[in-house]
Amino acid sequence: MEDPRSELRAIAAGMRTHLEARARAGLLGVSQAPCPRVNLAGDARIDASAPPAAVAQPLTDPADLETAFSADIEPPLPHAGHGLTLVRAELGDCQRCKLAKGRQHIVFGSGCPEAHLMFVGEGPGADEDAQGEPFVGAAGQLLTKMIQAMQLARDEVYICNVIKCRPPGNRDPEPDEVAACEPFLKKQIAVVQPRVIVALGKFAAHVLTGENTPITRLRGNLKHYQGIPVMPTYHPAYLLRDESRKREAWHDLKEVMGMLRHMGLA
Ligand code: URA
Repeated sequence: MEDPRSELRAIAAGMRTHLEARARAGLLGVSQAPCPRVNLAGDARIDASAPPAAVAQPLTDPADLETAFSADIEPPLPHAGHGLTLVRAELGDCQRCKLAKGRQHIVFGSGCPEAHLMFVGEGPGADEDAQGEPFVGAAGQLLTKMIQAMQLARDEVYICNVIKCRPPGNRDPEPDEVAACEPFLKKQIAVVQPRVIVALGKFAAHVLTGENTPITRLRGNLKHYQGIPVMPTYHPAYLLRDESRKREAWHDLKEVMGMLRHMGLA
């Protein structure tokens, strides 16, 4: 069995990272709310199955948004679902880059606003653009299986993308598009405060690690984003094209499960 003192030290270090990150995000209180299972899709639709108490009202007043992200004021944010609603409201009917013209829906994110585990993909494809939800097409079905293989349910984790609008013909996102959207990903992370992030594919991995290394070399190597562990792995769309890579991806996900277990979260 592991030395209890080193286990305690690991738990204390993890807790410190978590609290420091929450403080940076202005979320200084400890939420008592259970995961409200809010679906914050592109048009801010709320999951009808969520209990009424969990439904945060969108705040659109810019003063509220400023307060939520000011470093000096402690905002009265009761739980992360509220914070995500603020971020979604700030994104609004986004026209910050050229992808706005061709989109059907902004694909903001879905899942548990207080998830311990967050998956970050590249950007919506045709199915996601049509439905306003991330990872609902073929790659999304594989991602759901990967999450279930980790003994988790899709609505226990938080899922989003680096960019929130579909690039035409599913081309790679361009630097100006990533630059326009990246602040919103960062705010989503600041609000959700996941204990571990899985970066799916090179775009997410490059944005979150700041490294340009090919994903074949980056995957499986634990990195950090603002003190939060980031595990880069292959994108499920790539795994659909090359099944022989699934073994490596599963290895990466098992590492993540081990980390969550070590933190007492699985
Ligand atoms: N690929 C992604 O990167 N994100 C999605 O939401 C769907 C496919």
